[in-house]
Order: sequence, then structure tokens, then C-alpha cells
Amino acid sequence: MSNTDYTLAVEDLTVSFDGFKAIDALTLYVDKNELRVIIGPNGAGKTTLLDLICGRTKAAAGSIKFRNQELTRMAEFRRVRLGIGRKFQTPSIYENLSVFQNLEVSFPKGRSVLGALAFTCTNEVRARVEVVAEEIHLEGKLDTEAGLLSHGQKQWLEIGMLLMQEPELLLLDEPIAGMSARERELTAELLTRICRNRAVIVIEHDMDFVKRIAHKVTVMHQGRILAEGPMEQVQADERVIDVYLGH
Ligand code: ADP
Repeated sequence: MSNTDYTLAVEDLTVSFDGFKAIDALTLYVDKNELRVIIGPNGAGKTTLLDLICGRTKAAAGSIKFRNQELTRMAEFRRVRLGIGRKFQTPSIYENLSVFQNLEVSFPKGRSVLGALAFTCTNEVRARVEVVAEEIHLEGKLDTEAGLLSHGQKQWLEIGMLLMQEPELLLLDEPIAGMSARERELTAELLTRICRNRAVIVIEHDMDFVKRIAHKVTVMHQGRILAEGPMEQVQADERVIDVYLGH
């Protein structure tokens, strides 16, 4: 596969904080429809890497290409418009609005087929909300106030708000933190389903969950990639056991 065929191509990416290289000449390719999990010890640079991809942090050197388009110096909001969605650990939803309204307000403005025709727009938005609500296991909760949802359901709602924008790359930071076993299982199903239409990168510490969802695992250590491949290969790697899995 040529480097131009990947959804995401990160090459020689570097960023320093006060002289400390948090990301050090890192190269990573993510395929479309791939579910990639990034693991590694605290301070390895996992969150910084996602910050660089979504534009929250600017790279000092190297390049980030998304569907072969250069992103490296592009503003964060423009990356969102291009189709990159980022979810942080703490859900940011509108607690006083219903599930339906949270999804509705996340529909990208000005992208409706007939634009100015409010009636058509409303139907188009409603149809999209219904599709997304089903994807995130909240189809029966559309009228529920978001603040009344369980912790797991709030996390799914935030993923749904991102899905309303039809992203081609989703970046998720520890999506199952604080979830019950049942919610974790449903989240695994949800992620497996949504990566059929896009690439998904997940930072995760729960190895059972990683085994359940990952197509490929990238192990980071000290701002670099220590190992990469299917989970069975990565977990048998002595260096990975040494710096991470053995602890
Ligand atoms: P991880 O997500 O793997 O735990 P991070 O990406 O959060 O690692 O952090 C990598 C390193 O970069 C850590 O040493 C962290 O302290 C440092 N770091 C991250 N963001 C900043 C920042 N904004 N300013 C200074 N240091 C930072």
C-alpha cells in the first residue's frame, strides 16, 4: 500500500515541551476502517499524539496527512470540518438538553442538502439523529434529559455527537473509563460497528478490552513507537513486557 492510501499518515512527527521531546520523530499509518489502539505507560506521549492529530497542539517538525491532505499547520476547527472527531475522557454534553437535542445541535451547519430550506433540513437532521441514536444504543432514550443518563450512556452520547458530523477519523481517549462490565461490552460492539465506516484510534489501558476491539496495537514509550502489530504479537514482545505489560 502506498503512503497516500492511508486515512492518516503521520511522519517523523516531533514536539517538545520545555526541551523535553514528548513525541520524537514518530511515524504512524492508519488505514481506513481500521480500529487502532494505542497503549503504553503514563507519560509515553499517547494523549499528545492525539492532540497533534486533532490540532490542539502544533507540531515542531514532521507531517500529518489526513486522506492525503496536509494538516500539520491547519487550525483545529478546520480539521473538524475535514472529518476528524476527538473525544476526551470527560464527556462534554449538554446535560439540560434531551438526547435528541444533543444530537440535533451537533449536526454540521450548512451541510444540509437543501441548505436554507428549514423543513427539509429538519427531516434530514431527524433522520440522521435516528441512525446515530441506534448506533450508540440510545434509540430508546431520545427524549431523556442527557443529565439523567448513566455515565456510560453519556460517553456514548458524546460519541454520537461526533458521529453526527460523519467523521472519517475518530480519536477516543480511554472511552470505557468508569464504565460497568455491561457498558464496556456494549462499547466494544459500538466501536466495532462504527469503524466499518471510518478509521478509529483509541487510547486504552484495559488489555482485555484492547484484545476485544483492536485490529492493530501501537505501543508507545518515551514519545516513540516501541512495537506495533496484532495484539498477540505485541503482548509477546519482550520490550513491551519490560516497559508496560509486565508492570
Ligand atoms: P500519556 O498520554 O501517554 O500519558 P502525555 O502525552 O500526556 O502521555 O504526556 C507525554 C509527556 O509530555 C509527559 O511527560 C507530559 O508531562 C508531557 N506533557 C504533555 N503535555 C504537556 C504540556 N502541555 N506542557 C508540558 N509538558 C507536557
